[in-house]
Amino acid sequence: MSATVVEVEKVEKMKNKPEDDQLGFGKYFTDHMFVMEYCDETGWGNPRISPYEPITLDPAAVIFHYGQTVFEGLKAYRTNDERILLFRPDMNMKRMNKSCERLSMPPIDEAEVLDYLKQLISLEKDWVPSSEGTSLYIRPFIIATEPFLGLAPSKQYKLVIILSPVGSYYPQGIQPVDIKVEEQYTRAVRGGTGMAKTAGNYCATFNAQSTASKQGFSQVLWLDAIEKKYIEEVGTSNVFFKVNGEVITPELTGSILPGITRMSVIEMLRSWGIPVSERKISIDEVYEYHQEGALEEVFCTGTAAVISPVGAFEWRGTSININDKQIGDVSRRLYDTLTGIQTGKIADPFHWTT
Ligand code: PMP
Repeated sequence: MSATVVEVEKVEKMKNKPEDDQLGFGKYFTDHMFVMEYCDETGWGNPRISPYEPITLDPAAVIFHYGQTVFEGLKAYRTNDERILLFRPDMNMKRMNKSCERLSMPPIDEAEVLDYLKQLISLEKDWVPSSEGTSLYIRPFIIATEPFLGLAPSKQYKLVIILSPVGSYYPQGIQPVDIKVEEQYTRAVRGGTGMAKTAGNYCATFNAQSTASKQGFSQVLWLDAIEKKYIEEVGTSNVFFKVNGEVITPELTGSILPGITRMSVIEMLRSWGIPVSERKISIDEVYEYHQEGALEEVFCTGTAAVISPVGAFEWRGTSININDKQIGDVSRRLYDTLTGIQTGKIADPFHWTT
């Protein structure tokens, strides 16, 4: 179903917009936000666009105590002919509902919320930056707002969408990154919440990430929780290995976030006739492929950087360089094609943009 036009309360005074070269990530927020509420008796209601402002919550709200919350992340891009494009936003809505299901939260009407999201972006279209690599980051989230300390799903929720103009992930062009294989900490376990975009999965990675950063790595590679053997993800990205012409990515087992870029890369590679397999792949297998000279490329996928080539891994004190720390042909082609489609520079044969 299609949503009706929401009520809009406009700000009295608009903010000054930052210059594109000041943007960075998630520092600036637009003038307005979208809000709607849920309560058990009446379902979702009261959709509105209001000035961007603090949210007031009861100190007993479930979100503060038991972390019942989900979020999404996607981007709007400005094309050269001044259109605003979204990349597969229906998939973000679908994933948000999967996250809600895992966190015992009520589902949203995906089409309706997508329509509200578009209305918010239309109102804030002047905030979509235009320089190469910049975009408007869209952060929908739902929090449990019922004031109740009993350990049970909240009966009240708030869905909010905020927008943040963001800079280029690669101001100097795409660069291969060094990755540390994390052996102490675990991101997610099978049967846990790894497949959901929920706050606890992210704050639980801060200490591993901060140690790795101090050691000069840009991200950590997460192994499975039980055997500490099978590869899951890299930072907040999915990961792909090109071995003897075939591209391999870890299969989705419940502890991995099903990335929308991941799904798009798989579909794109197959359309190019490059074989892709989704299967278990262990870190020692990757080191063996490297030893045999069969490991051709490694790259990560995600909304933030789109494609991020891996230059090196470090695991148990042994470093390996991938493809002499050069950007591989497949990584480069995927990056150019995906960013080309997202920004309307090249045709979109998959009909991924709206
Ligand atoms: N894994 C994790 C843990 C993430 O947070 C993200 C970012 N949403 C991804 C992978 C990549 O997903 P996407 O391609 O949808 O951005």
